[in-house]
Order: sequence, then C-alpha cells, then structure tokens
Amino acid sequence: MTISQLFKKITPFTKPYKNLIFYTLILTVIGSFAAQVNAFILKYTVDSISELLVNKTPLRMGLHLLGIISAILLSKEIIYSIVQFGQKFYGEKLRIMIARDFSQAIVDKILTYKMAFYTSSVNESGKLQTRIDAGISSLTRLVQNFFIDILPLFANAIIALVCMFIANVYVGLVGLIIIPIYFYISQLQAQRLSGFRRNMRKYRENKNNQIINLIDSITVIKSFVREDLEAKRHQEIQYEMTENQMATRKTSFIFDSIKSFIEQIGVVIVIILTAYFVLNEQMSIGAIMFHIMLFNNVSAPIRQLHRIYDEVNDALIYSESFFEILEDEGQKEPSGSYKPASIKGLIEIKNINFTYPNGHRAITDVSMTIRPNQNTALVGLSGAGKSTIINLLDKFYEPDSGQILLDGVDLKEYDTDFLREHVGLVLQRNHIFKGSIADNIRYGKTEATLDDVIEAAKKVYIHEQIMELANGYESEAHLLSGGQQQRIAIARMFLKNPAIIFLDEPTANLDAIATEQIKNSLDAIKVGRTVIIVSHSISQIIDSEHIVVMEKGRVVEDGTHEELFDRHGTYHKIFSAMANSLNIHKITESLKED
Ligand code: ADP
Repeated sequence: MTISQLFKKITPFTKPYKNLIFYTLILTVIGSFAAQVNAFILKYTVDSISELLVNKTPLRMGLHLLGIISAILLSKEIIYSIVQFGQKFYGEKLRIMIARDFSQAIVDKILTYKMAFYTSSVNESGKLQTRIDAGISSLTRLVQNFFIDILPLFANAIIALVCMFIANVYVGLVGLIIIPIYFYISQLQAQRLSGFRRNMRKYRENKNNQIINLIDSITVIKSFVREDLEAKRHQEIQYEMTENQMATRKTSFIFDSIKSFIEQIGVVIVIILTAYFVLNEQMSIGAIMFHIMLFNNVSAPIRQLHRIYDEVNDALIYSESFFEILEDEGQKEPSGSYKPASIKGLIEIKNINFTYPNGHRAITDVSMTIRPNQNTALVGLSGAGKSTIINLLDKFYEPDSGQILLDGVDLKEYDTDFLREHVGLVLQRNHIFKGSIADNIRYGKTEATLDDVIEAAKKVYIHEQIMELANGYESEAHLLSGGQQQRIAIARMFLKNPAIIFLDEPTANLDAIATEQIKNSLDAIKVGRTVIIVSHSISQIIDSEHIVVMEKGRVVEDGTHEELFDRHGTYHKIFSAMANSLNIHKITESLKED
C-alpha cells in the first residue's frame, strides 16, 4: 500500500470531523506565524541595543525598548499558548473520535463475516486481536501525528523558510538544500528499518498467540511438568525479538547521528554566510541570531522526519492487514432474500460435497431427508462429519456441490438471518455470556419480559434451582454447573422458539446425573419441532424416529433403530460398542437385584 492509498482509505473516517479539522488547520497557521515572532524580536533587540551602544544613548531609552519587547513577547506567548492548547486539544479529540470509529467499524464488519473467517488459521483469536489492535493504534497515531505534530511543524518550517528567503536568498538556499538531503537520509533509514518492522510484527503476533495458548493449555502443561519446555519455547521467540529490536535501534542511532551532523553543518554555513554579510555591511549584526533561529525553525520539524517516516511506515504495515480485514468483501456471509411466512421443517440434502477452507474434505456425496416434526439422529464415530452437516444446515458454510432444500427451496435462496432466527442450535458446550442468568436466557429473545424468562426456565425445570440462589435470576450465570448452564441454553431456545432444532452432542460434557436431569428439558424442547440430534447417548438415539449413520464423510445407513439394528451393519457395530461400554449385563443384573 502506498501513502496516498493509505490516506484515501483514512479520508472517509475523517469526513464526519470536517469542522474539527478546519479549526485545527486555522490554529496551525496562526501558531506557525506566532512561532516566527521570537526570531524577529531577537533581531530587532540585538540591532536596537547595538545602535543604542554605538550612539551612547542613556539607559532610560534602553529600558523603554526592553519594555516594548517584553510586552510583545508576553502577548505572543499568551496567544501562542492558547493556540497550542486549542490545536492540541482539537487534534487529540480528532484522534480519540477516529480511534473509536475505527474500532467500531472493524467490529461491525467482522460480525458480518463467514464462519470460515473465524476458523481460518491466520485469524486465530490472538493473531486477529493483535492485527486489529496494531492497525487501530498505528492508524490513530498517524492521525494524531499528522494533526498534532507534523502539520504544525511543517507549517512552521515552510513559513520560516519563506522568512529566510525574504531576509536573504543565499541563506534561504542553505535551508532549502538541507531539506532534500534530510529527506533522502530519512528515506534510507526507513527502508533499512522496514524489514525489521515486518519481523517485529510477526514476533508480536506469535508472542501473543503463544501466551494465549499457554493459558489455554496450562492444565496439560502442569500435569506433564512441561513448564521448562514451554518457557524455553517462549524464550526462543523472545531472543529473536530482542535481536531484532537491537538491530533496529542500532540502525536508527547511526542514521540519527548522520542527520544531526548534516544539520550542524547547515548551522555553521548559515553563521559563516551571515557573518560575511554583516562584515560586508550588507546586514546588521542581529541577522546572525535571526538566521540561526529561522534555520532552527526549518530544521526542527525535519529532525522529526524519520519519526514521521517510521510512523507512516508503521501505519502502512499494520494498516495493511487492518484494511485487509475491513475490506474483505469475500468474507461477507452470503444471503438470499427468501423469507417464507412459516417454516415446516422438511430438509432434503441432495448429493452434497463439502471441503473445509483449509482443504479438508469432510463430506462426500451425502444425501438424506429429514422429515418435519420428527427426531432424526446422526450417528457415527467421531470425525464422521455429523457436526459438519449441522454447520452446513445452519449456513455457516456452503457445500461445494449438491443442494440443500428446506421446504423445497434451496438454502442459498433463504435470507441468512431469517433462516437462523428459525433454527436453534444447542451445542456440546453452550456459551454462557458474562452477566446474569436472566440476561443469558433473554439472549434467545432480547425483548422477552422477566415473566417470559421465568416461563422458559420452568420449561427446562430449572426455575426452582434459580430461586434458591441468593440473587435469583440476577445471579451470575457463570456460577451455574455445567448441567444447569446447558439447561439455560435450552431455556434460551424456548424463548427463541425455532421450528427446527439442531442438538450437537448436548449432553457430551455432562455427568450421568446431569444427563438424566436434562433429558426432560430436551424432551420438552423437541415437541412439535424438526430435530436433528448428534449424540453418543444410547437413550437419545433410540428415542429418535429416524437414524442416519455416517462414516468418513458419507452416509452409510439410514432407517429406524430396529431396521438398522437388524441389518447388522455399521449401526449395529456402533450401537453394540456403546451398549458394551455401558456394561449392560451388569447393569441389568444390578437393577434386577434391586
Ligand atoms: P463429527 O461431528 O462427526 O465428529 P466433524 O463434522 O466435526 O465430525 O468433522 C468432520 C471432519 O472435518 C473431521 O475430520 C474434522 O477434523 C474436520 N473438521 C471439522 N471442523 C473443521 C474446520 N473448521 N476446518 C477444517 N476441518 C474441520
């Protein structure tokens, strides 16, 4: 990305603050003129005093002169302070507002992106966060620098340069010649540093990611006593990062010295040149101070040039991936416009194939029919593709080929939001948001009243348990047990009241008692809906009217429990294994003796 492209991308974000920018610019110009006053006053002072000395004027006249000078300088300082305050304040306000808009824009955008965006390895949560954070902070720093630092400094420099030219063309030329040399060196510096900067970004992302992974896997790390191994892994990244940082600093310092040297040469030339004109009686003695101060006003901002280069480069590097995320139209979830008055729940899957974005083929030529108001169980070993079918039915992904019809209409034609409003998903581990139990249930229907919430809680048989808590429905939902949280998730479904429900191993994470307790909640939510359940629980499978058996991404059997069991095929094998793992013989014996 080039600088002009970057500015083009930032412009829409600055549009709402046109007035603010206008005032900042006006203040900048006033400030730049005020900044030159000192040079003029000093020249005037030196010249006047030397004239007083030559003429041997009484001290009284000198005091009068000093009075005038002090009054002018004081007034200038007051004006300058006010202008600077206004300029900094407006600039900062702009930065804060734009930072807010950038953050909001990216969050708004990624929420509309496909599931594939979130599951992609480049967007692992740590990496995505670093990319977004680094992008926003470098962009806002750029805006801040531009309006608070760069613009005033450069306005200063240009006005000082004009003053130098007006005072003397040769002196002006010295100032002018220094600028391109500085530019050239700063650019060299920036080029040398850009490789280091890219590396730095990679290290930062990896480091963040590693810490997140470390926290996630702490139980395993500790139980295997692998703390040293993990520390070593982290140390490797740290060391590489340090080396990179040191190299960056070294390069920066070398270039800084060169630039400082050139600046000093400029100062010396200005002094020699002006002294020559003074001795030649073409200029008054005050011109020496005058020119040095003006030259300083020209070189001060240019001294910052490498920093500006750095920050623009930062902004270019970091904002590249920020805008990549922001403008990734290909990630937008596709949506049709079909919104029927109601959904019956007949799902026909016809010869679908599906490959995950990472290239993993998960579904091969799958066909099945899911009849409305029936319970269909998807059975198969882990990795068979059951959850993938649910992902496809929820439109989280689109099949590569084949068709999925809902009530005779292709899923692609459906308005995606509408579809999801009418489809409920209960997962193995349902997300419980930070907040109260009431708010967590209400997530199913944001406009639900407390009475609706209570009614839903009663339907999943958890109302009494909630009432026993000190704060009732206002208690923190995180405090609930796994089984209770799962019931909260099912209560959410009652509020949402979808025509179709997908249950993806809803009891897999629960113990036997919780599973037993939750059974009645599940039975309640199934009534009058089309249900697809993925489960390893024998009771839930037997309860289903229709069973589809999957193996390695394909459907291998399809029918009722009795039909499939009698066939002595894959289902028979899986079912027997499940039953044997339960040790049915001993269980029945124990129950008989009871
Ligand atoms: P099941 O639900 O039957 O256990 P899944 O549908 O979860 O199986 O997975 C089917 C296959 O697809 C597995 O091999 C799994 O590793 C793979 N898979 C699942 N999710 C993803 C994903 N987001 N990206 C790539 N591969 C995936």
